[in-house]
Amino acid sequence: MLSVRDAESIILNLVQPLDKQLDIEVVDLLTAANRVLATPVISPLDFPHWDNSAMDGFAVRYEDVQQSSAEQPTVLEIVEEIPAGYQPQVTIQPGQAARIFTGAVMPKGADTVVMQERTHRERNRVFILAAPQPQGFVRHKAAFYQAGTNLLPGGIRLKGPEIAVLAAAQCPQLTVFRRPRVAIISTGDELVTPDQPLQPGQIVDSNQYALAALVRECGAEALLLGIVKDEPAALHEAMTYAIANADLVLSSGGVSVGEYDYVEQILESLGAKIHIRAVNMKPGKPLTFATFLNQQGLFPPRTTALYFGLPGNPAAVLVTFWRFVQPTIKKISGVAEGWEAEFLKVLTHFELRSDGKRETYVWGKLHLIDGVYKFSPAGGSQSSGNLINLAQTNALAILPVGKTLISPGEEVQVLLLR
Ligand code: AMP
Ligand code: MG
Repeated sequence: MLSVRDAESIILNLVQPLDKQLDIEVVDLLTAANRVLATPVISPLDFPHWDNSAMDGFAVRYEDVQQSSAEQPTVLEIVEEIPAGYQPQVTIQPGQAARIFTGAVMPKGADTVVMQERTHRERNRVFILAAPQPQGFVRHKAAFYQAGTNLLPGGIRLKGPEIAVLAAAQCPQLTVFRRPRVAIISTGDELVTPDQPLQPGQIVDSNQYALAALVRECGAEALLLGIVKDEPAALHEAMTYAIANADLVLSSGGVSVGEYDYVEQILESLGAKIHIRAVNMKPGKPLTFATFLNQQGLFPPRTTALYFGLPGNPAAVLVTFWRFVQPTIKKISGVAEGWEAEFLKVLTHFELRSDGKRETYVWGKLHLIDGVYKFSPAGGSQSSGNLINLAQTNALAILPVGKTLISPGEEVQVLLLR
């Protein structure tokens, strides 16, 4: 059976990022958080825009004050007060200074700011009590960057700091990648929506809701196609619609070896190329992965639709989503780096067990204990049908094939969930 690593490289090699020219839209800066920048941003302005003061203090001519000391202060006449946002009116002459505040424009004639703490003021005179550095506390025009500088590269996700940079550079609108569209299908005759009363044998379709939340957390658009019966015709119709309308399709259930598991059969009848039919992992073994070559140009501009047939078990859905689907969505979304799954070596706080046959994913929590991350598996059953102890999971510990026990205090690799 295919190893997890091999499955991962097969999948991620087949993922094409959205197109820099075709899959883009323009958004306002205020709604740009978490979007992926499609094109580099070049500054139209110098930054800072003007020479300005980095301190509250006095703008002076360095040559006037270079000999100053507490014993022999230089005395200057204050000729103007310059708050931030004010355009200075006076040129500083020998023997003169201007009161100035942080961020305010430097007056003509002055080249240095003496911080307030190194001065003493009496009405319109200031005593300079220490020699400043030449040009001290002046932020020069274009010192941080010049107009024409590449401010941000394409392919980065916009967070607070990048938004601040763009606002300062007066870029109120940006070209970002459109959100990837991810269709979600739940298969199973036994499934009902959470608002329906449960008849004997029925199960609530939690996968649709879990996947919608996870997909949106990744910055993608969720196209919810609901519950589809275990009937070939119904599945055929839903899957045809999904691949024509999404970049990526996620179905859950119907990929095991049971009588009512039709997903692979329908993928084949729709002309899909099935790359993966099972992965040597627990939970998640029945994972199916396929691609559709879209020769009819059903949903331009993408040429390939990707299809994950996820297992039906709710825990297996989450584990396979975190391990394979999340990196896939991130790579589609156009981010140049940082889309791969993230692993960390930590110590386990409790023992971890597996039968050693498949790569085993144990869900639980990372806690910071005395500055070291320690992993605690969730209490209760780690059955892939159990959902309740998956709540609040922030890491999955991984036991490689052949490893049956990791004892408390030993190192373990975890998949970080965020
Ligand atoms: P299957 O692979 O279709 O046989 O499903 C395996 C198990 O997962 C069965 O116990 C199903 O009832 C359960 N299951 C399948 N789909 C869902 C779903 N959408 N939400 C919750 N449980 C599901
Ligand atoms: Mg089923």
